[in-house]
Amino acid sequence: MAHTPTSSMTSSFQGPSSSTAITHIVVFKYRPDITWTDLEAHFSVFRALQTQCVHPSTGKPYMLSMRMGNNRSREALNKGMTHGFVLEFASQDDLDYYLTKDPVHAAFSKAAKPLIEDSLVVDITPGKLFGDLPAPLTSKTTHSGSCHCGNLAFTAALDTYPQPLHVLCHCRTCQLLSGSPYTCNTIIPQGDLTITRGSPAEYAYTGASGKKVHCFFCRECTSHIYHVQDVAPDVVVVRTLLLEDGPKWGAGGEIFAEGRLGWVSDLKAALE
Ligand SMILES: [Zn+2]
Ligand SMILES: [Zn+2]
Repeated sequence: MAHTPTSSMTSSFQGPSSSTAITHIVVFKYRPDITWTDLEAHFSVFRALQTQCVHPSTGKPYMLSMRMGNNRSREALNKGMTHGFVLEFASQDDLDYYLTKDPVHAAFSKAAKPLIEDSLVVDITPGKLFGDLPAPLTSKTTHSGSCHCGNLAFTAALDTYPQPLHVLCHCRTCQLLSGSPYTCNTIIPQGDLTITRGSPAEYAYTGASGKKVHCFFCRECTSHIYHVQDVAPDVVVVRTLLLEDGPKWGAGGEIFAEGRLGWVSDLKAALE
């Protein structure tokens, strides 16, 4: 029986005997210091994924079934894992959508991350006992960006899941280089940044570590694209608002928070 992601609701009536159905088995160890209230709220959001996660092509829920419970094994072989979850999907495509694209699942995962100390995931196609492992999920998405004048263009591969977030830097150097209260950045491996057009000019200064920081910017319009610190030469700090979809992302953290201008945190309230 052939299945496509668009036929997921139909597939639900065919049950797990379908040859493409895949069972996603997840085992979590929750942190011992989580309160009951937090855990209950987490489980209720988790349970709701079954109806809240909808496929973009059908607008309907696509998870075939979900079972969850805490460990009841008397064998003491649970390796510290506390809860198990068994989720069924009609196809690998549906499971991939759930893991990499579904915004409802992504928001849930982001909120759940601090609660989970360890996890284990096995996906099975019931009845299939041999065969190669599918290619690992690509967890990075390439985003394009450019400077103000367009002479420089670049791509940055960022983690797809959870979706990229800006890291705000309130340091004095960022304020001086950008002329604004803070900059929006992400730190990625050097190899995940590619300059696709033009060649940036370089400005180097001595950072707080005593080692050089190399800033790369457009010599025409001065947009600062990224910088590399000699103290951590394997990574680059990319200015995320220069990426096309950067304005859609939220803030995921801040550094040099002690430099945060007093009115920045109250800006929305101050302007209302
Ligand atoms: Zn430029
Ligand atoms: Zn900074």
